[in-house]
Amino acid sequence: MFKSIVESFTNIFKKPVTKNYPAETIKHFPKYRGLIVYDVNECIFCDKCEKVCPPKAIVFHQNEDGTKEYNYNEYLCIYCGECVRNCPKTDQALTHSENKPEIGIKDNFLVTNWKKLYNDAKQSRIDYKNLKKAKKEESS
Ligand code: SF4
Ligand code: SF4
Repeated sequence: MFKSIVESFTNIFKKPVTKNYPAETIKHFPKYRGLIVYDVNECIFCDKCEKVCPPKAIVFHQNEDGTKEYNYNEYLCIYCGECVRNCPKTDQALTHSENKPEIGIKDNFLVTNWKKLYNDAKQSRIDYKNLKKAKKEESS
């Protein structure tokens, strides 16, 4: 009892262990990976990042003209860094940024539409394969 009273009094004069984030900046832990940054100009569209992503937070949409679009859900991402590690253009197409996620701001479009966006992207690949097959058959 006496011990807890003393501890309570000493805690009154101690600095709080919590930080007033984001007003007060927090030092990164030594192994902090940070956010994932993608550069379309460096990407060779090999899809490796999509294949290795455990929560399926990356998906490429295949356009009919042969181009691909990168889609990334930062709310699904667990920041494991597998995509960056496996990217043949690590530190160019995919990099870790020192930045922290913004707190309390959610991109509702991504959150509510991700499942559809993901399924559409997967379907676009099947459609593209079929389109190529049909064109090949037509020309032969
Ligand atoms: S960091 Fe991990 S979870 Fe996030 S996109 Fe890359 S592979 Fe997926
Ligand atoms: S692994 Fe790298 S190069 Fe390949 S698609 Fe992903 S970002 Fe582009």
